[in-house]
Amino acid sequence: MATFGTLSDRLTETFRNLRTKGKLSAADVDGTVREIRRALLDADVALVVVKDFTAKVRERALGDEVSKALNPAQQVVQIVNEELVQILGGAQRRLEFAKTPPTVIMLAGLQGSGKTTFAGKLAKQLEKDGHTPLLVAADLQRPNAVNQLQVVAEQAGATIYAPEPGNGVGDPVKVSRDGVEHARRQQHDVVIIDTAGRLGVDAELMKQASDIRKATNPDEVLFVIDAMIGQDAVNTAKAFQEGVDFTGVVLSKLDGDARGGAALSVASVTGRPIIFASTGEGLDDLEPFYPDRMASRILD
Ligand code: GDP
Repeated sequence: MATFGTLSDRLTETFRNLRTKGKLSAADVDGTVREIRRALLDADVALVVVKDFTAKVRERALGDEVSKALNPAQQVVQIVNEELVQILGGAQRRLEFAKTPPTVIMLAGLQGSGKTTFAGKLAKQLEKDGHTPLLVAADLQRPNAVNQLQVVAEQAGATIYAPEPGNGVGDPVKVSRDGVEHARRQQHDVVIIDTAGRLGVDAELMKQASDIRKATNPDEVLFVIDAMIGQDAVNTAKAFQEGVDFTGVVLSKLDGDARGGAALSVASVTGRPIIFASTGEGLDDLEPFYPDRMASRILD
């Protein structure tokens, strides 16, 4: 994953220096922690996350598990790995399905974050797994949004519910509610609701998303965030958490070569798990998110 190239290189270098030492002094640990801190900050990881992370690593690295280890440097790397898995959310979390179909999945996020693309990717993956997803076009803000979802639905081989295609008017809350009802009648077992995104967080958008949430009672509300968004990630994620209270995160554009801090901050800051990683413009570029694999990639 290109996103973490620089961070990964920096940490590898830090650990290479550490490995030249036998027993580690407090100064060795502090030096290492300082380098890790700089590398994370340079990768755009949020300051609160960096502080918390480095404090935990430092405390453990100065403790018995390292001083008594056969290979102290290796033990420090192991600690960094474990703490990295923790900030990425700990255990893997899969999509949750309703006991009684349809499972309702609502998407939220800024415009351009990759929601519509993700809707298509998810629909395609669900189809492959034997589900019968219905895509609901509740982004009636952007004139072209419904058409775009239509194209994506076609590519994914999924059905779309859009009563007023392309004309930009209509009530997104009603469309969402009717969409879920339509799915129930037509026996679609999953409903994916694509909602409107603005360029920045705004109150009207949040109210609309919150109203859609109330009207459709989703099993999952997935917040789609562009991994390239950098330091804005934390504030955007917090605003969406307050506004719609999402249940999980989709990291999009992880194929880009940005510094990747969003990926490392968002789960930790919101306490919500990252469920998917979106890694390209094609509909097959979607992977479940595994915190442990991501940590290993970063530390490789
Ligand atoms: P929306 O406004 O949130 O619905 O965002 P879109 O789904 O329209 O995506 C915005 C742009 O990002 C489009 O040009 C997509 O092709 C592109 N895009 C979406 N997901 C990814 C991804 O994972 N990787 C890359 N490289 N581009 C993506």
